[in-house]
Amino acid sequence: MSSRPLMSSFYDRVSHIMPEAEWLSHEDDFLAILELKRARNAVILAHNYQTPEIFHGVADIVGDSLALARKAIEIDADVIVLAGVHFMAETAKLLNPGKTVLIPDMEAGCSLADSITPEDIELLRQTHPGVPIITYVNTSAAVKAVSDICCTSGNAKQVVESLGVPKVLMIPDEYLAQNVARETDVKIIAWHGHCEVHELFHAQDVRDLREAYPGVVVLAHPECPPEVVAEADFAGSTAVMSDYVGNKKPARVVLLTECSMSDNIAQQHPEVEFVRPCNLCPHMKRITLSNIRQALEENRYEVTVDPAIAVAARRAVERMLAL
Ligand code: SF4
Repeated sequence: MSSRPLMSSFYDRVSHIMPEAEWLSHEDDFLAILELKRARNAVILAHNYQTPEIFHGVADIVGDSLALARKAIEIDADVIVLAGVHFMAETAKLLNPGKTVLIPDMEAGCSLADSITPEDIELLRQTHPGVPIITYVNTSAAVKAVSDICCTSGNAKQVVESLGVPKVLMIPDEYLAQNVARETDVKIIAWHGHCEVHELFHAQDVRDLREAYPGVVVLAHPECPPEVVAEADFAGSTAVMSDYVGNKKPARVVLLTECSMSDNIAQQHPEVEFVRPCNLCPHMKRITLSNIRQALEENRYEVTVDPAIAVAARRAVERMLAL
């Protein structure tokens, strides 16, 4: 039976961003992945920054880090393929210790996760005795394991205020910590990690966008520098940005975050004009349909977490999810 009707029905999901010939060039990998998912009882979790052929084509669950962590708890499958970066695959493994978790490219890292080690946390505890440590999910399991609780960009303020203390350490994203500090009375001590994608945005970019695109509504991710967030109309995680566009339906909008985010939500909002300054995350873009297929065919690369680390790291993640 021809696969073209199936390819055409999926093409409707990406037609706003991709010529049909490009979509059809993915046919072999796309069809093989659908069959491999069925044969291996596998699901694919994809972050909002994945390319449209992954996000709209083969993913079973999509979202930001918080949504993926939440939904990972409920997965009924033998195999999870994480179309995202390594710390996300580790988080999925923490929450699904009995399942096989695969990441298609082991080099898919994150500048934030690389910016801090468990030894750094130990030094911070010595320097700030008794101050709780809130760890952004963009960290290794080993760092989570020596933290008190995790947070995401979507719940960071809520986590800070849930602890009922006057002062917290929030690591490793300096800008996220500074942006949350503007919204709470809790004193926040930051670390010096940065997202290599969001740190590229500058306040002048916002002013230039407003001049070039009159009336544009500017939404910034809280990993952007505080002066960018201050110039924006609204700041929030990728999930919150998506909700904002869906609810407010601005005529023209720009999302100051990774490129694929606009591509992935534009199809749902044909009446909204998306202005697209483009900062790509090189780590997210290591994941392709081709290496997702290889991951399922060759059971690679399996993500494991040392059991002792996993117990402590899971506690920090679950404490956040319980909020
Ligand atoms: S976009 Fe930034 S925070 Fe997200 S994976 Fe890439 S480097 Fe890390």
